[in-house]
Formats: sequence, structure tokens, C-alpha cells
Amino acid sequence: MRAWHDKCAVFGIWNDPEASRMAYLGLYAQQHRGQESAGIVSLNQGKQIAHKGMGLVGDVFPAESLDRLEGTAAIGHTRYSTTGASSQLNIQPLTADLFSGPVAVAHNGNLVNAHEIRQKLQEQGAIFHATNDTECLLHLLARNPSRDIIRCLQEASQEIVGAYSFAILTHDRLVGVRDPLGFRPLVLGRRKLENGGTSFVLASETCAFDLIGAQYIREIEPGEIWWVDENGEHSARIALKSDRLAKCVFEQVYFARPDSKVFSLSVYESRKKMGEILSQESGIDADMVIPVPDSGVPASIGYAKQSGIPFELGIIRNHYIGRTFIQPSQSIRSFGVKIKLNPQSEILKGKRVIVIDDSLVRGTTSQKIIRLIRQAGAKEVHFRIASPPTTGPCFYGVDTPAKSQLIAAHQSVDEIRKFIEADSLAYLSIEGMMRAVSGTSSEFCAACFDGKYPTPLFGLEKEL
Ligand code: AMP
Repeated sequence: MRAWHDKCAVFGIWNDPEASRMAYLGLYAQQHRGQESAGIVSLNQGKQIAHKGMGLVGDVFPAESLDRLEGTAAIGHTRYSTTGASSQLNIQPLTADLFSGPVAVAHNGNLVNAHEIRQKLQEQGAIFHATNDTECLLHLLARNPSRDIIRCLQEASQEIVGAYSFAILTHDRLVGVRDPLGFRPLVLGRRKLENGGTSFVLASETCAFDLIGAQYIREIEPGEIWWVDENGEHSARIALKSDRLAKCVFEQVYFARPDSKVFSLSVYESRKKMGEILSQESGIDADMVIPVPDSGVPASIGYAKQSGIPFELGIIRNHYIGRTFIQPSQSIRSFGVKIKLNPQSEILKGKRVIVIDDSLVRGTTSQKIIRLIRQAGAKEVHFRIASPPTTGPCFYGVDTPAKSQLIAAHQSVDEIRKFIEADSLAYLSIEGMMRAVSGTSSEFCAACFDGKYPTPLFGLEKEL
């Protein structure tokens, strides 16, 4: 079941003479949301053209591939998942030829009842090609006798449960859909063209708009189906199944880029506030505050500002290495910390340091970092985490490990402190985190921290 676990970026553009190039740049800006595979589908005179491959955006799309992706509309996707050999088939956007015409779907999020839907459809004779949850949506659209894609989406949304932000391209429109609980972000923008026209843009994060010179208009609302066609913009609703929202707080903590606006909040400002509140909650006397780069930087700035303790870059990061966490094997991961992070002994020698990171998951990275900091001569190492203890896996699209590997699910804060070999350890409280995002637990999903999963789990709870 965890084979369906994706974390991804989506992008969509309509009415742009350079649609596929813009999609390429939009995916490039959102590469942090998934590094396993990438794909773009463009629309040229009612026909769809696809180019997809394993690897990073810069490697998947040589210049000639973008020349081939002709047309004035496109959608794109980057993906990281835990699937193995069959992953070629899972590369998105997924495409199909329906009775109503061609359709391409890019999905960010994870459907929690995909297994049930798939089984039911297979019993009725449906043939599945891939192992991802997104294919369920294509089947639900295909089996609907209506030729109206918006109606088909409204009806499909009554069957699928979980997290979904979709960018969908048909022969005559670009569609953006966000699930009623609003787990994953999806934003709408506009790009002014040299010929005086305007193109419409969808993306997971606003950092994609900045790169292509698009203006942010608004979020696609939770439970909204937005689309643009030759007659302009339209909006419809999915019947709401809940009176709460479940925006993923982990987007603010770690996942999104700090220069993005997510759920109408500046991610950078949220992280700075998390650091400020962390300092109020568990301040300690020390000579300097240092971040684990880059994920701990904004929170450290907030912590240093609030505490008045000087901020220093005590650890320098080699930027030519990917995120260690997402490397496939534990041995590469362990080695990765040292290649990636280099503590500066001239700064740390004889000092009492507060080290800030955004989150602590398995604890293995923190332990290695603390050892390196001590080897560099630090006298005391106080570890501070700008989020609460991670105690549960995510079923809604963030690639957290299984519960058995989450150290805070099994050990107390003091046991974790001993494991990571810190002089002291403190986490941000759940209330503090909610204050930092100006939210409440009826607006955000914080299930990885508080265990309150906002949907039924359809058997996935076996993993808890
Ligand atoms: P560890 O506690 O050794 O598992 O690793 C903690 C580090 O992983 C922190 O620096 C986080 O920034 C980072 N991290 C947390 N969650 C994720 C995630 N879902 N994907 C990639 N990195 C993550």
C-alpha cells in the first residue's frame, strides 16, 4: 500500500505560446517536491503530446523534447515515490483516451481509499497499468457516461477520499481541483504575454510563478474545481463532506520552499515564527544559534532574534548533493551527512551552541551532526526542533517513514536526547506550531505530530 505514497509537484498553463517551456521552468522551480521522475503533456490543436522520464527535470527534458512538446497549453509533474521496478509506468502526468477525448492528469497527494476503489473496479473488469492511486481517477472518469468532464470530476470526488490537488488537461480546457479538506496546496496565477494576451497558470507553490514571471492571483479553494477554456475562467464546487479543513502543516514546517506562499502564508515567515516561539518555549543560555542548513535556517533566524543570541553559520553545506533523507538506502544516507555538512571549528571551538533543525524523524541525521559539531570543538550542544515530535506516518502524500522508524513514536524526549547525544533537547509544542501558522487544529492536518488523522484510513491504520 505504501507503494502509492507520493510527494509531488504539479504545474499547468493555458494560452501561452511557450507552454511547454514554462512548464519545464515551473517544474524546475518545484524540483524539491520530487526528484524521482518528471513529465510534461502539451496540447496542440486538440491533440496531446507527452514526454516523461526518470530523473531530475534538467535531465529528463533535453531541448529537442521541449521543441516536440508543441502547443499553447501544458501540464507537468515531478514525483518522488517509494515504488521500485515498475516506476516507469507510474510517471505522471498519466494520460488516457476517453470517450470525451484525451485527458492528462497530474496529482499531488495520496488517496487513502485507492486500494478499495481499485479492487472494486478490477472486479468489474478494469485493467490497471500502474500501481499508483491516480489511475483510479482516470477509471472513474472513463466509466462515467457523461461527456462533461466537470460533472465527471464532481461525481468522482464523491468516491475518492484523501489528499488531491490535480492539474488536468483535456482537449479543450485546463482544470485545477483541490480536495474538500485542502490537504495539499494549489495556486492560481496569471502571466502577461508580449502580444498583450494573458495566460493562466496552476502550480503547487508560488515559487514556480516567480521564475516564469507570473502573478499570484489566489489559492484554488478546498473543494473547488477551477477551469479555463476558450470562454475564459470558471469555477464549480465539489459537494463538501466535512466542516473542517486539513491543510498539511508539514508543508509549512519542511516541505515547501521558504520563498513560496502556501495556504496564503509566507513559508519563510511561518518558519521564522516557529523559531521565535521555540525560543520562548525552551530558551537556554548559549554563545550562538546555528541552523542545520538549509532546513533549519529560517527557524534559527527567528530563534536568534527572539533570544538575542547571535546567529552563526556554524555548519556549511555542500550544495551539490541532494537531500540525504530521500536517498534509497540507509548506508548512503549515513555517508551523506558527512559529505553534505561541514562544521566550522574556528567558529564552534569552546562554544555552547544551540543547533536548530526543522524536524527530527529517525534521529540518525541529528546524531551524526551533533558528533561532527563536538569533533569541531563545541563545548555544549543544545538541540532544538522547530516542530513537535514526529509520531505518525503520513497517508496524505508526504513521504514519512513507517511508524517503527519514527524515533519519537517509541522514545521519550530524554531518551531521544541520549540517542542523539545532545546536552539538551526540546521540541516546539503543537500549540506553538499552530500559533506560528495562525491556525487551529480544525484548519490544519497535523496527524504526523498529533495522530489525529482527519479521514477514515481504509485499513491503512494497520501501519500505525
Ligand atoms: P532524521 O531525523 O535523521 O531522520 O532526519 C531529519 C532530517 O530530515 C531533518 O533535517 C529534516 O529537515 C529532514 N526531513 C524531515 N522530513 C523529511 C521528509 N519527509 N523528506 C525529506 N527530508 C525530511
